[in-house]
Amino acid sequence: MKDTTIFWFRRDLRVEDNKGLYHALQDGGNVVGLFIFDKDILDDLEDKDDARVTFIHQRLQVMRDQLASHGGTLMVRYGKPLEVYDKLVRELSIRAVYTNHDWEPYAMQRDQAVAAFLSSFNIGFHHFKDHLIYEKDDVLKADGKPYTVFTPYAKVWRSRMYSELKGSEGHFGVFDHYPSETLKERWAKFVDEGLPSLESMGFERSALEIPDSVVPRQLIREYAEKRNFPSLRGTSRLGIHFRFGTISIREKARHALELSDTFLNELIWRDFYAMVMAHFPHVVGQSFKAEYDRISWRNDPQEIKAWKEGRTGYPIVDAGMRELASTGFMHNRVRMIVASFLTKHLLVDWRIGEAWFARKLLDFDLASNNGGWQWAAGCGTDAAPYFRIFNPSAQQEKFDPQSLYIKKWVPEWGTSSYPIPIVDHRMARERCLATYKQALIK
Ligand code: FAD
Repeated sequence: MKDTTIFWFRRDLRVEDNKGLYHALQDGGNVVGLFIFDKDILDDLEDKDDARVTFIHQRLQVMRDQLASHGGTLMVRYGKPLEVYDKLVRELSIRAVYTNHDWEPYAMQRDQAVAAFLSSFNIGFHHFKDHLIYEKDDVLKADGKPYTVFTPYAKVWRSRMYSELKGSEGHFGVFDHYPSETLKERWAKFVDEGLPSLESMGFERSALEIPDSVVPRQLIREYAEKRNFPSLRGTSRLGIHFRFGTISIREKARHALELSDTFLNELIWRDFYAMVMAHFPHVVGQSFKAEYDRISWRNDPQEIKAWKEGRTGYPIVDAGMRELASTGFMHNRVRMIVASFLTKHLLVDWRIGEAWFARKLLDFDLASNNGGWQWAAGCGTDAAPYFRIFNPSAQQEKFDPQSLYIKKWVPEWGTSSYPIPIVDHRMARERCLATYKQALIK
């Protein structure tokens, strides 16, 4: 008789309020947690001290201790998922694998391959919605087609959210559902290999600080007033925790319902972009609106370098790019400004900016990053129209009127060591309009 149920952690690195884990514990088998450091993903990372790998590693240690104190085990393996499962089916008597959905194109292919492999051993593969409030097909237009405009999508999302967030459907507590003695009996008794070291996987520990996962209620209450000013601590900085599921989206959406409608709206954007990517996977690599792929990008290497290093001579752009390089974070308002500057002022292909953010952002998320870049370049769903070109100086006056943000990140601003602008705003604006028009009216 097969007796082991695996719960496979991926974008949900928490034990509490984890829907798939909750269901795995009800399966009747003895449950063991699994995390795979996926070689296919890690091999593509360019920085050996990638802070996200360090974050995952630290988080797994915390989860292992937490599970151990309740009699459970988290196995951590390094390798290609199919190869890891190939070994596991020989080592353990597995009855089922449980997990939560991941809608990224790579993840969907991986899961299909794993499900097919397990099925050849008669092992079930069960998956649940946990990472989003509403996913791919949950909020569709009356004709069954996906929304491509945010406002009507958000309206329907809001009209339904109560059923998802309230009552028993809204919480999947593990510790509060099972008395600790019962919980102890649910786990597989297991001798564990231990956590592979970062070094053994070719990585080093990063010194970057990770934002706290606990946010003062007052910050969320004041979110609408403060969120646009990069010098203030006005946003939650929870992005990395949403990305890796170290907090529960349902719990945070409930806080938002209570404390700030504007904050809730941002969480809806997160679902919206994930839904767009799931329905239109071509956005990974191509413009959502195909005609934008006719734009003749300039892609000047020196200008791209200056943008990455924060030496464009536009202080709000440079401050943002330096904040990103030093902390792995950039304020949303500034993300919009630097992305607009790169794609419109410098006429650099949005995919180059997208890749740089993917490398540097702690909260990098394929769907939201892609959505943000395509919005800025004008080629995405519900995007900024191509003729809307942010004026970096006007943005700076409006959102950093006392230049506090700029002085923090660009201390030499106003001295002779600060570079002169690499491009003239008025000329760049005209050039952008002409280039975009040429591509779009063909
Ligand atoms: P808060 O303002 O506190 O918002 C709370 C949460 O809501 C965020 O953590 C995030 O999960 C979600 N959210 C907020 N704004 C958006 C949005 N516009 N789109 C989707 N979700 C949103 N967000 C990412 O999570 N990962 C990315 O890789 C990413 N890349 C971006 C690239 C560009 C060019 C732009 C313009 C935006 C990008 N965003 C991305 C969206 C947004 O900038 C960040 O989510 C936000 O700045 C993260 O900071 P925070 O956690 O303090 O957010």
